[in-house]
Amino acid sequence: MFDITKIRADFPILAREVNGQPLTYLDNGASAQKPQVVIDAITRGYAEEYANVHRGLHYLSNLSTERYEAVRGIVQRFLNAGSEDEIIFNSGTTEGINMVSYAWAAPRLKAGDEIILSTMEHHANIVPWHFLRERQGVVLKWVDPELDGSLDPQKVLDAITDKTRLIAVTQCSNVLGTVVDVKTICSGAKARGIPVLVDGSQGAVHMPVDVQDLGCDFYAITGHKLYGPSGSGAIYVAKERMAEMQPFMGGGDMIDDVRKEVVTYASGPLKFEAGTPGIVQTIGMGAALEYMMGLGMENIAAHEADLAAYAAERFAGLNWVNVQGSAPGKAAIFSLTMDGAAHAHDISTILDKKGIAVRAGHHCAKPLMEHLGVAATARASFGLYNTRDEVDTLIKGLELCHKLLA
Ligand code: PLP
Repeated sequence: MFDITKIRADFPILAREVNGQPLTYLDNGASAQKPQVVIDAITRGYAEEYANVHRGLHYLSNLSTERYEAVRGIVQRFLNAGSEDEIIFNSGTTEGINMVSYAWAAPRLKAGDEIILSTMEHHANIVPWHFLRERQGVVLKWVDPELDGSLDPQKVLDAITDKTRLIAVTQCSNVLGTVVDVKTICSGAKARGIPVLVDGSQGAVHMPVDVQDLGCDFYAITGHKLYGPSGSGAIYVAKERMAEMQPFMGGGDMIDDVRKEVVTYASGPLKFEAGTPGIVQTIGMGAALEYMMGLGMENIAAHEADLAAYAAERFAGLNWVNVQGSAPGKAAIFSLTMDGAAHAHDISTILDKKGIAVRAGHHCAKPLMEHLGVAATARASFGLYNTRDEVDTLIKGLELCHKLLA
């Protein structure tokens, strides 16, 4: 049973006021709030169980290593990876995708090789590929969304040529809320021997993920959007792909042996985790994923689908609000513009006065904004603790914006 009152009580910050109003937090797409179990895990990690991992033989080092390494199994379960050796920890999706670019793609791709992207990617899934274009002459091929914001998987597959080396696509647009049929893309790509990287930064927040069922090669997640600490994250890398990857950063922990003349590397994920990691952040991410799995990813998805449907219905009643993207089954992410002169920043500032947190800007998706023909939107993105009442609060806030700005 998804008891929203009880769930909201798990997140202490939701009880606070902002600008003298109850907080209506609708900026989950940027970063989500943290439940008490995550805050407790962080506090315990530093107050009672802290030492560096992997290197010590003393009690606390062993304990923190145990807590840290246990998260690999939690991420494996969360993504249903075949093995915890396919989970590499990092600071978030940005680092995960950059690692694939540096460690897997850069050594393998040459001038003229192609990477297929959708136009709705976040910059984190664009700029690392631009590096390869600038430095190595790799060609980026773009697939545009349809008018309703959906992405036709067949169009992605039709863009494949004998030069395609990778498809990199989001599972859920952080601007449109579009959920992409990555399974169809993966199975079509696999038939042609082309690896697929899925940016799961938003997708994993809103729906159950099974990387084996999807058939992807890389799946990147980010802890702070999954109700965990900032600076935490992980990437699933299928073992065949991991075997093809060169080390990314060099340093402690990722070696087997280092001599003056030679270096040999650790095997498995450790090879890609140089230096002291975000120990407590990762432990906090583990607590967050356990929390989400405890609620049930299907239940979270159903709750958010209800919010998405209700919000869409309410927006439909406002003929001066334009919602970008209406793909069937979209996540509860609504990017808005308003008729008249209202700028997204003005909308966000007025809503803030009412305690409503939304994000305004290009949302790190400039190619998509250009495609949509808008400079900026105000984005309300819902999470597992949001309610229909908060949709109503947002609508009231937008009515005020309309009165003041139109
Ligand atoms: N991909 C998508 C779709 C996102 O929405 C974001 C963050 O907004 C990212 C990647 C980057 O995530 P992070 O900043 O946690 O690395």
